[in-house]
Parts: sequence; C-alpha cells; structure tokens
Amino acid sequence: MYRIGIDLGGTFIKGGIVRNKTDIIYKTKIETPQSHTPGDTCEAINELVTMLRNNLATGPDECELIGIGSPGSVDAGDGIVMYSNNFGWERPVKLAEAISIPQNLPVKISNDANCAALGECLANNLDKGTYIVITLGTGVGSGIITDGRIYEGAHPGAIEMGHMMIRYGKRKCTCGMRGCFESYCSATGLIKTAVKNLKKGSGLYNAYKEKGQLDGKMITDLVRAGDNNAKKVFDRYLTDLGTGLTCICNVFRPDAVLLGGGVCESFDLMDDFLNDFVRNNIFGRENGFVPVIKKATTGNDAGIIGAANLAGDL
Ligand SMILES: [Zn+2]
Repeated sequence: MYRIGIDLGGTFIKGGIVRNKTDIIYKTKIETPQSHTPGDTCEAINELVTMLRNNLATGPDECELIGIGSPGSVDAGDGIVMYSNNFGWERPVKLAEAISIPQNLPVKISNDANCAALGECLANNLDKGTYIVITLGTGVGSGIITDGRIYEGAHPGAIEMGHMMIRYGKRKCTCGMRGCFESYCSATGLIKTAVKNLKKGSGLYNAYKEKGQLDGKMITDLVRAGDNNAKKVFDRYLTDLGTGLTCICNVFRPDAVLLGGGVCESFDLMDDFLNDFVRNNIFGRENGFVPVIKKATTGNDAGIIGAANLAGDL
C-alpha cells in the first residue's frame, strides 16, 4: 500500500506517492489557483491527488491514505483549517472532508510546518526522542516531534514559535503583533535588519545600492568576504536567533533543535555561535542536558514525507 502526501503552498501544491514511510516514488506539483479561494484550492488538490493516484503502477486503489500539510491554524483532529493568513481564509475550511469525499479515502491534515518537521525527523530516523524543527524562510515555521509523532498542542494555533515575543513593542510582525521571533529571525527579518543598518561605503551598502535590494545569500557572502557591516548585521541576527532558541530549549529541553530554510545554507557561519550561545544561556548551563543545534537536511521533500505519515505507521 502507498500513501499520498500533499504540501499546500501559496505558489505551488506539491504532491508525492510515499512508500515505506520515507520513500517518495513519484512526485509532481501544480500551480496554486491564484484566487486562493477554498473552492478553487480544494478542486486543485483533488486534481493533483487524482493525477498521483493514476500514476500508481498497481492502480489507484492501492492508496490507503492522503495527508495534507496546510498553512494556517489547523484543527488536525477534525480536519479543519480554522484560519489561514496566507490564503486569506477567514472562516473555517473543512479541508479533509473536501478531499476525502471525492477521493473516497481517509484524509489527515496538519499545519505545513508540523508536516515538514515530521518529515525531517522520519527521513533522518529520529523516531525516538523529542526534536524541535525550525524553518527560517519568508516566515519562521516550527514543529515539535515526539517519538515520531507531531505534538499538536491543546488547541489549533499552537506551536507557533515564530510568534514568541523576543522584543516586546518593537518591530512589526506579519501577524499584527510586535517583536516576534519571526520578525527578526526569518530571512525577511535578516534582510530588514541589514537594510536598517547600512553603513555608507561598506560592501553591504554598495551591494544594496547596486541591486536595489538584498537577499540572505548576498549578506552571508559578504560575511564570508569579511565585510564589517555585514558581519555586524549577521551577529545581531545570530544573537536574536540564539535568544529565541534558548527560550525554546528552556521550555522543551529537546534532544536536538534542527534548523532549516534558505538562511541555513550558511549553517557553517551559525553553528559555533548558536551552540555556544545556547550552552552559555540555557537554564542550569552545563549542569543540565544542553540540546544541540543542528542543520536540517531533508529540504523541500520533508513536507510531502511528513504529510504522508500523519496517521502513524505505514
Ligand atoms: Zn508575529
């Protein structure tokens, strides 16, 4: 038997056929309808699922379950997306039902960051113990995996570590609050910090003037090249990131924290700083267990793998 994992994103809906927990035997993607309405989005997911099922060599009936990772606040138990900022869904959308009925299969859903976290752990055989997976992208995604299962919290909207306040009343976040971890530690946050702290004549300043914008890689390339302005910005970024990670480690004291997302392509510039920072600032310091901060390695497939494993063992 096989499962289908769907990773619902704002630009693409990615889907894969998954066997033996982590083997993606076929994957494809379609564009997300730009209306982003629940009706159009569910229709597109159904189209993609049908395409995937028709691709199974043994026939569409060999599929036992469909799992979907969706952005927003998800009621995993009832299969409902309560609210999605990215999709403009203000009212609850019965996503599981909208796929389950036409496909005549069980459908499980969870938040997309939870699915990516589960996929990351399963792909690395981390199915025993407690792991926190954090993705530093346009926003900051987070998930808690305990013994190979997602911890959903008591109510939808839990495990949003990106919206921990690390600087009360400061920089505005996309969620409407201020001072969130995400507003400083996402790739977008790093770029914002750089643009606010340009020093005339520096490599960073010149790069910004030349291109009219900055991206994460331009900043880390300049850190490597020894540009002082870029180094100061990146140190500020790492201090904010270390602060958030220390808070997370003080609450959960996990076996490890896995960091993913575009910024972590430069994890070699982050590794020592972050691990030293957490070791020096965690409650009890070295008298207790100090979780290691590591780089996540599974990349874009993690969401599909995690979604396919939402209902447990294959
Ligand atoms: Zn926020």
